[in-house]
Amino acid sequence: MTNVIGLNVIRSPTDKSGVDQDLTFEEVCPVWFHKFRKGLDRRDRSVLAGDSKYCLVGEAWGFTGKQAGYYIAPLIPFVGCWSCVRYGQKFGKVAKKDDYAGSDFEPLISEFLAHWNREHKGITREIKR
Ligand SMILES: [Zn+2]
Repeated sequence: MTNVIGLNVIRSPTDKSGVDQDLTFEEVCPVWFHKFRKGLDRRDRSVLAGDSKYCLVGEAWGFTGKQAGYYIAPLIPFVGCWSCVRYGQKFGKVAKKDDYAGSDFEPLISEFLAHWNREHKGITREIKR
């Protein structure tokens, strides 16, 4: 299988060594980072395809799936950022393809990460505190 992505190479292009460094995929979505590294299983794919709040966009927003229950819900009421919702849907589209390759996610991940670093970096900081 070729589902494993070279995630260590995915970084935002503006990787400056200043104090205000951009966050990496691992920092924003540690759970999904490890899932993508291992390769997605059937359940992971159905989470992505179902556009649930437990997809990686949901994780970035602090919904790590630790809540009891498992239900599919559109992200918008929880997230409040239309771009993030769109990213969630794009990930879902790729996950629904039967013949998807792990590398299909790479451009999406770096796009989402760039958006995250531009708009929502503070959220990750708050969650971690
Ligand atoms: Zn957003």
